Amino acid sequence: MRIDIDKITKEGLKISRDFDFQSLELVEEDAVFLKPVHADLTMTRMGEEVWIKGRVATRLSFVCSRCLTPYEFPVDAKFDLVYLPEEFHELKDELDDEDFDQIFYQNHKIDVREVILAQLNLTFPAKPLCTKNCEGICAVCGKIRREGNCGCQVKETDERLGRIKILVKDKR
Ligand SMILES: [Zn+2]
Ligand SMILES: [Zn+2]
Repeated sequence: MRIDIDKITKEGLKISRDFDFQSLELVEEDAVFLKPVHADLTMTRMGEEVWIKGRVATRLSFVCSRCLTPYEFPVDAKFDLVYLPEEFHELKDELDDEDFDQIFYQNHKIDVREVILAQLNLTFPAKPLCTKNCEGICAVCGKIRREGNCGCQVKETDERLGRIKILVKDKR
């Protein structure tokens, strides 16, 4: 969905619709869409600058990087972007540091689908976790720790002992 910059009037151009993306387009490898991506955008233009204010919302299924259990990841993110024509890219050095986040459009067109995909990918965590302090799986029996204690504590105790030994060494 490419928007011609010249079609953006002073009142702004509003877009409110669902977008379908493939899981392959996402930065998160094991993500699966549970519903289409809904986006609300308002594009306004001031000279060659195009401002895009919007919101992107969807629900995905992620796989926890520690316990490997799928979990729901809701997205509801707002964004505020400024696009400049590609020619301005060469003037980058002359722009203020603060302006580095500006993005550039080519041939007087902005691909709204790409804008939304980029914003969606930005909401993803570097390491997906089902819960903030997911304890992962037991290294001995492979049981998911969240689902109950399996009784194997060998590894944990070893780690703790190791740490104590280091502490004792440092004190000497
Ligand atoms: Zn987990
Ligand atoms: Zn175990």
